Amino acid sequence: MVQMRDIVKKFGTTTVLDGIDLDVHEGEVVTLIGPSGAGKSTLLRCVNGLERISGGTIEVDGEQLSYTEKGLNRLRARIGMVFQSFNLFPHMTVMDNVTVAQREVLGRSSAEARERGLELLARVGLDHKADAYPGNLSGGQQQRVAIARALAMDPAVMLFDEPTSALDPELVGEVLEVMRVLADEGMTMMVVTHEMRFARKAADRVVLLADGGIAEEGPPAQVLDEPTSERGQAFLQQLN
Ligand code: ATP
Ligand code: MG
Repeated sequence: MVQMRDIVKKFGTTTVLDGIDLDVHEGEVVTLIGPSGAGKSTLLRCVNGLERISGGTIEVDGEQLSYTEKGLNRLRARIGMVFQSFNLFPHMTVMDNVTVAQREVLGRSSAEARERGLELLARVGLDHKADAYPGNLSGGQQQRVAIARALAMDPAVMLFDEPTSALDPELVGEVLEVMRVLADEGMTMMVVTHEMRFARKAADRVVLLADGGIAEEGPPAQVLDEPTSERGQAFLQQLN
């Protein structure tokens, strides 16, 4: 589904990603962990074309990433992204947030978009908030709307960049639960997170990034309990 070969990303003279090879298969859930500054967000941003790679190739859903306007639009139509800050449109109702792109990008009718919107809001447990404004929702509810909004585009892949780190601790669980169900349903996902319990329960594979490279990669229990690299061991030790 996502195929990365020898990805290099430089900012000026600083190399942030230094030859990443990573495949995410259809239906697979890969969590990316690692110290601050390791390049986790940069890697996700490269996958959906928000950052331009300095070397290597990225294929999404069988198509090589090209940086033409058309290429980027095609790419982004197939990738849903959820950020740490919920980024909902504050002046629009919850329903408008989940329908605007369906209408304007996918060309769905208002009725179609609304029906799909309600279905997705029900899935994240918020169909009763369709007419509310984001400012009147809790952070956890806003993030669940953001997930519904991304799903409304029927993406082939969902990218999550620390979706729960801006939330009060008591609201983390409801968002992780929505993500866990999504994972169980077979969505292809790349998830940057500090939530090791989520990584353990929901991930098929954990990738530990450090210094712009993959330090460890494998099933959750292997990476989290038996890291073999020095950088992996150091990172996991300071979590405990
Ligand atoms: P965190 O856990 O803190 O979110 P991260 O693993 O997501 O960290 P990135 O945000 O990908 O790390 O950053 C990797 C490195 O790239 C950092 O050294 C950062 O300062 C640098 N960097 C990121 N974006 C830019 C940019 N637009 N211009 C210059 N340097 C950048
Ligand atoms: Mg980051």
